[in-house]
Amino acid sequence: MAGLRPLPLHLNAPGTQPVTPAVLLGATDIRALAASIDLTPTKTLGQNFVIDGGTVQRIVRTANVKPDDVVLEIGPGLGSLTLALLPDVQRVIAVEIDERLAKLLPETIAQRFPGGLDRLTVIHRDAMSLDLRGNDFPTAIVANLPYNVAVPVLLTMLARLPTVRRVLVMVQLEVAARLAAKPGEDDYGIPSVKAAWYGSARMAGTIGRQVFWPAPRVDSGLVAIDRHDPPQTTATRDQVFAVIDAAFAQRRKTLRAALAGWAGSPALAEIALREAGIDPGARGETLDVGQFARIAEQRPHQDLPEDFLPLPPNARRPPRADYKLDRRPDIHLDPQPDL
Ligand code: SAM
Repeated sequence: MAGLRPLPLHLNAPGTQPVTPAVLLGATDIRALAASIDLTPTKTLGQNFVIDGGTVQRIVRTANVKPDDVVLEIGPGLGSLTLALLPDVQRVIAVEIDERLAKLLPETIAQRFPGGLDRLTVIHRDAMSLDLRGNDFPTAIVANLPYNVAVPVLLTMLARLPTVRRVLVMVQLEVAARLAAKPGEDDYGIPSVKAAWYGSARMAGTIGRQVFWPAPRVDSGLVAIDRHDPPQTTATRDQVFAVIDAAFAQRRKTLRAALAGWAGSPALAEIALREAGIDPGARGETLDVGQFARIAEQRPHQDLPEDFLPLPPNARRPPRADYKLDRRPDIHLDPQPDL
């Protein structure tokens, strides 16, 4: 093992037996481990491995994990962060898409933190198709996420794993800023609003390029999310997310225009917005997730049959005598949508 440097991790809850410190991975170790399995890091899988013990310790400290936490780590890679996590938590469930890395991880843990092996579950799988049945359910996510899929992976995990209460992820700095942005800020967009459905997100630090091998072309940021209940609404999450997607697909347009396709016409969008108490001249970038939920509740054709779903722009819909909007009998669909 090249360059063993035991780092003084404080591993034990008061009154428990001392645990031998984990031996964290440095640059020489990372290169040697990669060479041992013939691994050339690929961009496609976002393989930039942390080569600095101080950085993984900082991530674990910032994640504020507790001894009874079950931590989901997406993409453990060569084990840099896993080694720093294992001493401090009850279990790490490590999900790795690259089979060579998934196979090597238990060996690395056995050599560098033998006491951690029985707290580690390694799953060789794409995180997007993760099925945790039969496992402990994670209480936290701590990960250096593959950058090209960071947002979908994070949102999918939050959607599928309601037991997760806290998240600390390292992502591309620009993505971190988007996840943590608040209404009205330049970076506010789809990831910000959708993340806010699940919890309150904040920037928890920036990380330079030199702590990785290979060094990425962008800086990185830490994002912390504390889970909270979603907004109280009669709309489903999918219905709310559909409004968010529509509003930001044309983010410089007013909501009246941006939501025309979603509502069926600009006029119907205006009615839905007014009923939700939102100014139709406002833009999506000024609304919080609760306001998007209120709009979703007002979708005009929520209760209508299939053939009343929105028409393509400029298409004509034949008048239908039996059509009624039961919640708003005074409103009629315009057969020529004013798009
Ligand atoms: N955690 C390690 C570290 O900090 O050094 C490696 C982080 S590296 C940025 C991302 C890791 O995620 C790689 O090991 C890559 O193979 C893995 N990965 C990429 N896409 C994945 C996916 N869809 N599901 C699970 N793991 C994935």
